[in-house]
Amino acid sequence: MLTDPGTVLTPAAAPDEEPAGDAAPAEVAGVAGLGSVAEVEEVAEIVPGAEEAPRVRRPGLSPSRANDFMQCPLLFRFRVVDRLPEPPSAAAVRGTLVHAVLERLFDAPAGRRTLDAARALLPATWASIVADAPECAEVLPDAADTTAWFADAGALLERWFTLEDPNRLQPAERELAVSTELEDGFELRGIIDRLDVAPDGAIRVVDYKTGKSPREGYEGQALFQMRFYALVLSRLRGRVPAMLQLVYLGDGTLLRHVPSAAELETTERRIRAIWAGIRSSAQSGTWAPRPGPLCGWCSHQALCPTFGGTPPELPAGAVEVALGIRPPV
Ligand code: SF4
Repeated sequence: MLTDPGTVLTPAAAPDEEPAGDAAPAEVAGVAGLGSVAEVEEVAEIVPGAEEAPRVRRPGLSPSRANDFMQCPLLFRFRVVDRLPEPPSAAAVRGTLVHAVLERLFDAPAGRRTLDAARALLPATWASIVADAPECAEVLPDAADTTAWFADAGALLERWFTLEDPNRLQPAERELAVSTELEDGFELRGIIDRLDVAPDGAIRVVDYKTGKSPREGYEGQALFQMRFYALVLSRLRGRVPAMLQLVYLGDGTLLRHVPSAAELETTERRIRAIWAGIRSSAQSGTWAPRPGPLCGWCSHQALCPTFGGTPPELPAGAVEVALGIRPPV
């Protein structure tokens, strides 16, 4: 349970301003559809099948969906197979807004990437988010009054400037969609917030979190996501990233980790084990609920047997379309 020797947590002096348990569970659970720009795009990626047949997804996983299955197989089913809608949470939508501003800020030349410039991006960025997904505005008590909303997002941006200086950074990539197919056709996919590449080619993978950092010794889930990305990048670019960096805006903490080739091999084995569990559930039709502390954040309690509900019947072919796995007839 100890932080491993290659991992460094760097708290900044910024005080805690966001109540514990607000943004963090939403990010831990991976809010389907609205957790971040990455989440929105990930859900949409489907490969074409035969012309009249339903479009069948290639077998594969992203870190968020892998985490869903580890948290609760039934939650995974609801999100990935049933594709049940989930109401947006304020924490998740705020995260989407802040992610988008941090991406857009780098459109300005170095020297002009100031906190004021970042804050100035909030209204237009918010307008484009609401234009794409009008339900996002429902998280505000009054959709017409964005004063407090922008102040909260601005506080997170301000904290980011205590952790990184965007004028000294020139990201190689922002919101980078990555995927790689393993030898057996299984696909690893995800979207990386930021990629920095040094002149010598060393890669730093950066992910922003608007929640708080995990307690020391509990970084495993966050690092799983980063190792997942590192594994994909190492296959795509032929070298193991030099640094994995999580930027926690909720409490002003950087979590840095130097990955090794050996741990990425371990990560690949772990991903395959998770996929084996998904395949077993898909073939048996058994998606067991796994109650835990995050049930309080689950949008599907009314359908969950743990809370007296009954999951809906799955439509014929839904498992194959969603997962590329055909259950036995
Ligand atoms: S309420 Fe809990 S056990 Fe039920 S589906 Fe949601 S996360 Fe799983």
